[in-house]
This record gives sequence, structure tokens and C-alpha cells, in this order.
Amino acid sequence: MKDQFNRQIDYLRISVTDRCNLRCRYCMPEEGVGSLSHLDILSFEEILRLARLATGLGVRKIRLTGGEPLVRKGIVSLVRELKALPHSPDLVMTTNALLLPAMASELKDAGLSRVNISLDSLREDRFESITRRSGLARVLEGIDAALACGLTPLKINMVPILGVNDDEIVDFARLSLERPLEIRFIEFMPVGSSLGYGAGQRLPAESIQKALEQVGELMPEQRSGPAGPARMYRYPGAPGCVGVIPAVSDHFCGQCNRLRLTADGQLRPCLFSEGEIDVRGPMRQGASDEELEALLLEAVCSKPDRHKIGQKDFEPSRRPMHGIGG
Ligand code: SAM
Ligand code: SF4
Repeated sequence: MKDQFNRQIDYLRISVTDRCNLRCRYCMPEEGVGSLSHLDILSFEEILRLARLATGLGVRKIRLTGGEPLVRKGIVSLVRELKALPHSPDLVMTTNALLLPAMASELKDAGLSRVNISLDSLREDRFESITRRSGLARVLEGIDAALACGLTPLKINMVPILGVNDDEIVDFARLSLERPLEIRFIEFMPVGSSLGYGAGQRLPAESIQKALEQVGELMPEQRSGPAGPARMYRYPGAPGCVGVIPAVSDHFCGQCNRLRLTADGQLRPCLFSEGEIDVRGPMRQGASDEELEALLLEAVCSKPDRHKIGQKDFEPSRRPMHGIGG
């Protein structure tokens, strides 16, 4: 599938739930969500049908996200069935890892190839203050479990926030000196309207990079295949690497290859733009495969050339991140 700016769209991010077992301040309100009932959420049959059609149209990589994907009951079976689709898509997941110690090896056996783990502090008190829950030790166990069963290369996503955890960039970077981890620092994004942190607390990529230089010489990593948005580096002799994702300051829209499906069945052509195309309604009213394929293609064709963050007419998304899947 090519969009109108000649970008090849072969990556589908599926949010399988908007619920979560954490309450990260930049993502979820303290009271959690619960606005969506089980009937609002796509069933596994519906997700599988859309994924089958998407792979038929050229999607080759599927990321499961949320909310927290591991809290959705039956997620291991969903992984197994997605892997069994024609073209056997590359299956990956973004998770907070709280449930990973118990689930890593069955997910691997079911066909998941790797995970991205989100972690914003290595200090228990801060972890609790950012996520409004305890659980750092379990996340660290989750990292060990993922490495042990080969859910690799294992990426750790950290969002540095000014005055909150920006002084931990160096500690996170040092993890790459000891273990084969890709530590990626992602600029805080102004998504959602009631975030616990202000846009002024975004640490720009340039400052993240300066902090990384304190640890050692940054050697640029050459990647084969689609590089994605990360600028990757390795410290001399390190088993792991570090990367900066300038999500806001230096948009990577020109390389965008993705489409998003929200838990309530909306196709979202762009993370930062409001446009959505309903597929749940038509599917439940008996749409044919051809009609659903047309909606997938319509979503591809309506991808904007770039996001508008930083421009005068930018309006932060009304849907918070947990409702889109990151
Ligand atoms: N619960 C899973 C997790 O945390 O990995 C998956 C969903 S979460 C919405 C996906 C990613 O979005 C996480 O890495 C999280 O740090 C990131 N995220 C959420 N809100 C964000 C924001 N406002 N700016 C930047 N990243 C954000
Ligand atoms: Fe949950 Fe992930 Fe959002 Fe944190 S970032 S509240 S773990 S969905």
C-alpha cells in the first residue's frame, strides 16, 4: 500500500485495550479509564479479520499495544492466531512489562518476536510517582525474562521529562554498557488534553543527546532495513546501544510507514492528527471484505504528509495516548 506521498505503508499498530495496570501521569488519568465497555472493544475475531485483510494488502509488521496489551485476556492466543495469518507477519509488542515475568516465554512460543518495554525511572520512589503504582522490581524481572527467552533485540523506551526524570538519562544509557539492550529516549509528546506534565517539560532531542555524550563517545549505528524514527548510537565495546527519537523537534513523518487501529475499532492515519475512520460500525453492520479493504486503503490515502506540532494550527489530540497506543 502506498499513500499519496509515495510512502509504503506496511506496519499496523493494533491497540488491544485502552485499560492499563499503571497510571503514567503523561498518559492516563488517576481514576483510569473504563469509558469503553467490552462491547465497544473489538473482539479477537474482529481484530483477526482486519489483520488478515491488512496483511493481504501488504502489511508485514504488526505491533500490539494499548493501554497495556498484557492485561487483555487471551492475548497469547491472539498472538498465536495473528502469527498464523498468511504472510506470517512480524509480531512485536509494546508493554510496561509488569506481567512479562509470567508471560514472556509463552508469548515467544506463540510467535511474538520481540518487545519494547516502557520504563521511565530506575528508582522505586520515582517509578511510583510517575506511574502512580509500585512495580519497578517486576518490570526489571520482565526485562530479564524477555532477554532469557529471546524476545530480542529488546528495546527499552524512556520518556525524559524535565524536572522529573531527566537526571536519569545517564543511568539508563549505562545499561547499554552492561547488557544487550537498545535504550531509546523518546521526546515527550503533547498528546491528550489532561496530561500530568506540561509541554514545557519536554526535553528536546538535542539535550538528550548532550546528556548521552557524558557517558562516552557516541558512535552512530548503521542499520539495514527501515531505520524507523530513532537515531541510534553505540558506546565503544558496549553490548547494547542507545537512541534518540526526536518525535516532536525533528519530525520523522517522511519515513512514516504505519497505520493505527484503536481498541474501539477506529483506523487512525496519524498519531498526531485527529482524523479517524470507523471500521467497527461497518464491520458490525455486515461489511464485506472488499468494503473493509476499501476503508483500510482510505485510511492509507488520508495520511497527512506530516504532523503539525509546533505550528500555529496544531491542536493536541483529544484522545490520550492510552487510547491510541503510542
Ligand atoms: N502500556 C504499554 C507501554 O507503556 O509500553 C503500551 C502503550 S503506551 C501508550 C506506549 C508508549 O507510549 C509508552 O512507551 C509510553 O511511554 C509512550 N507514551 C505515552 N504517553 C506519552 C507521551 N505523552 N509522550 C511520549 N510518549 C508517551
Ligand atoms: Fe499504561 Fe503504557 Fe499509558 Fe503507562 S504509558 S499508563 S503503562 S498505557
